[in-house]
Amino acid sequence: MNEPIIILNDLTKQYDQLVAVDHLHLTIYRGEIFGLLGPNGAGKSTTILMLLGLSEPTAGEVRVCGINPVTHPVEVKRKVGYLPDNVRFYDDLTGLENLIYTGQLNRMTKKQAREKALHLLSRVGLSEAAHQKAGTYSRGMLQRLGLADVLMKDPEVIIMDEPTLGIDPTGAKEFLALIVKLSKEESITVLLSSHYLLQVQEICDRIGLFVKGKLIAVGDIASLSRKLFANEPFIIEATVDQLSPISRLQDLKQVLVGIEGVKQIDVQNAHIRIFAAKDITAQVARAIVHTGLDLLSLSKREHGLEDIYRRYFEGDGMEA
Ligand code: ADP
Ligand code: MG
Repeated sequence: MNEPIIILNDLTKQYDQLVAVDHLHLTIYRGEIFGLLGPNGAGKSTTILMLLGLSEPTAGEVRVCGINPVTHPVEVKRKVGYLPDNVRFYDDLTGLENLIYTGQLNRMTKKQAREKALHLLSRVGLSEAAHQKAGTYSRGMLQRLGLADVLMKDPEVIIMDEPTLGIDPTGAKEFLALIVKLSKEESITVLLSSHYLLQVQEICDRIGLFVKGKLIAVGDIASLSRKLFANEPFIIEATVDQLSPISRLQDLKQVLVGIEGVKQIDVQNAHIRIFAAKDITAQVARAIVHTGLDLLSLSKREHGLEDIYRRYFEGDGMEA
């Protein structure tokens, strides 16, 4: 299963002074579910538009199923189903009629399209809403209809931009589960973008962490945190008495800075968090006591998802 399906080579997109996508290298393989995850403004949508031939790269190359979308956009669209972040349908047509219309655009007869549409509506859990106008669908239902719509043309690849945007957490979870099921059953390659790291990561075979136009790490979550925090694998957290004088906390900070291996210190009220290259729990305990502070709790852990979230996605809405 190591056949490259999407290849980005040095891909760059510049808008005037802004480099929205910055020399991106990435290969996605057949059958993979790949998550392009990053905060708002990272350049995810811009990357997706270039993959589809909807935006021209400033530099670099793209191949999708061996096709260059810059020179052959129509061929790419034949193989790739795209679910944009603001998927729209004809409001006055029913869900079924919308899918039949798509089928006919893809050169099916009306009968073929109707059969396929009914089958897909059932697969995405919309059978009961098939004859309801799309204008009455909820956001979650529209996403399901969008998925069915994309499947009408038997795509090799599905690209979804922010697929869970605007769906409640339960609906989002169900929708993500549906994506996994369909992609595994049909061995479709899926590229999805999201700024909900915590929500989306678990369905992805691999993740690329995309920040300010750059892919800063690629892999599964465990290897991602190893790569991102290679120089500071330990987090030591301590709580001291709420009523500790600020001057003592400042003294403590001075002492902590001097401990070998300390990379970063956050002090928030009585809560102290230290990022360190080695396990310095004992030294931290000693420092706190020597400074004359009352130590109430002390713990040590290794970096994980929460820390990736905190560092790169903070302030972006933490929907789980
Ligand atoms: P994401 O999808 O990760 O939220 P985008 O790809 O939409 O990020 O945007 C990346 C950056 O490029 C942002 O700073 C955005 O303002 C800028 N950008 C996107 N599209 C355009 C455009 N058509 N013209 C100018 N700047 C744009
Ligand atoms: Mg976007």
